Amino acid sequence: MNSLQQIVEGGYCIGCGACACATHGSIPVEMNACGLYQAQGAAAARCEDDQVSLGIAACPFSGEGADEDDVGRHRFGAGCLPDSRIGYYHDLFIGHVAEDGYRAEGASGGFGSWILAELLGTGAIDAVAHARKVDSPSDGVLFRYSLSRTVEEIKSGAKSCYYPVEMSGVLEQIRRTPGRYAVVGLPCFIQAIRRLSGIDPVLKERIVHCIGLVCGHMKSKAFADCLGWQIGIPPGRLDAIDFRVKLPDRTAGDYGVYLRGGEIEATRPRRDFLGARWGHNFFRYSACDFCDNVFAETADLTIGDAWLPEHENDSRGTNIVVVRDPSLSTLILRAMSQGRVVCSRAEPDTIAESQAGGLRDRREGLAYRLRLKELQGVWAPRKRVRPDAAHLTSQRARIYAARSGAGAASHRLWQEALAQNDLAVFLDGMRSHVETIQKAYETDKG
Ligand SMILES: Cc1cc2nc3c(=O)[nH]c(=O)nc-3n(C[C@H](O)[C@H](O)[C@H](O)COP(=O)(O)OP(=O)(O)OC[C@H]3O[C@@H](n4cnc5c(N)ncnc54)[C@H](O)[C@@H]3O)c2cc1C
Ligand code: SF4
Ligand code: SF4
Repeated sequence: MNSLQQIVEGGYCIGCGACACATHGSIPVEMNACGLYQAQGAAAARCEDDQVSLGIAACPFSGEGADEDDVGRHRFGAGCLPDSRIGYYHDLFIGHVAEDGYRAEGASGGFGSWILAELLGTGAIDAVAHARKVDSPSDGVLFRYSLSRTVEEIKSGAKSCYYPVEMSGVLEQIRRTPGRYAVVGLPCFIQAIRRLSGIDPVLKERIVHCIGLVCGHMKSKAFADCLGWQIGIPPGRLDAIDFRVKLPDRTAGDYGVYLRGGEIEATRPRRDFLGARWGHNFFRYSACDFCDNVFAETADLTIGDAWLPEHENDSRGTNIVVVRDPSLSTLILRAMSQGRVVCSRAEPDTIAESQAGGLRDRREGLAYRLRLKELQGVWAPRKRVRPDAAHLTSQRARIYAARSGAGAASHRLWQEALAQNDLAVFLDGMRSHVETIQKAYETDKG
């Protein structure tokens, strides 16, 4: 078995598409029956050694070559301060966009779409590669990476895409079309772009900015289908979903979900759905269990939600912004002085505190999961966190085990529910996993 097969078969493939791009399609990345993009292990098995090496050089889960610390030090080390939780940073902000409806139309404070529009408006880029709704979905896939060349197109891609996407198609478009591009992505996707830039001079020259999203974990396509089925839209019939609808009288985290399919169209609070709580891990990619990068540490700028007590009550949404490229700080500071964005500088501890749960999972939880792999004698990619279970209380171990169990069971039970055309098969099975997680938390003295 070659090392790319090992990544895929070990459950470490996040389906980013970087290996497909690096090998010019020799290793296709396709959506599997569980609704997860995955590199095709069989194709990897047939590849010549030089193709496997290219795939490995591009793959953020290979455990070989430059890790996020190396990339960060190389790109940002000179002008930034290091932080073991958030990566290198030049400036840290908390706030929102005040102009042109970016905040109202965004998932959070609107900084994501705003910074892209600002880069386009100032002539720094010609186009943006980001996840956008598919206008007329024909194959049941509702979101894809697409290029936006106008502010209107950028704005139409606002909101969080809790849905699998892969980059190989859009990267091929960038290869074919000269210009300067920004790519928006989850932390592992941005790391893949940095690795690809190391082996492809065209992508290196054309991708001039990487904008990262803070990441809890990534969901399979079944997450959207399952929310739809819970309000009566059968799988395959969902036409549109907005995962983040701001509900005026609620906290920022208590947002709604908009769904449309056939005759049914509704917005419901997400807490009405089983599986919409991120801590329950439904439909999580198994690769996310082996991730150590919460803050997209190799992006020029990273945005996330300010999950902090002083901001959570504002349903309109508030961003945290980690800036690593000084030219992007200049854009923000100028817009602040013009009243176009409203934000204040923040301390690294505050920024890290906004993602306390994610960091705990990707440090303590990851160390534990790596140790389990070690005990099982199973290969796992090298991470910046070392395998360790010695410092974990038994209660915390139970929490991590219960959450991993729920993630794995959700994929399996979803297949069973589809086969029996009965949503109850999934919901009844998953309720017991949710109870196990809750019990583990209740007995948490750690
Ligand atoms: C899977 C996932 C998990 C996340 N987990 C966390 C978390 O744990 N904590 C946290 O604080 N924030 C998390 N975020 C980020 C958060 O949901 C918001 O996307 C972020 O705060 C930006 O909001 P905004 O209003 O500034 O941006 P908006 O103005 O809404 O713009 C968002 C931009 O990001 C692009 N985009 C959205 N999703 C994707 C995607 N999957 N791939 C590529 N481009 C995309 C959009 O096309 C748009 O250009 C996550 C996002 C995703 C997609
Ligand atoms: S994580 Fe990305 S690069 Fe690695 S095998 Fe999967 S699709 Fe390919
Ligand atoms: S948790 Fe890590 S591996 Fe999973 S999608 Fe987010 S950045 Fe990628």
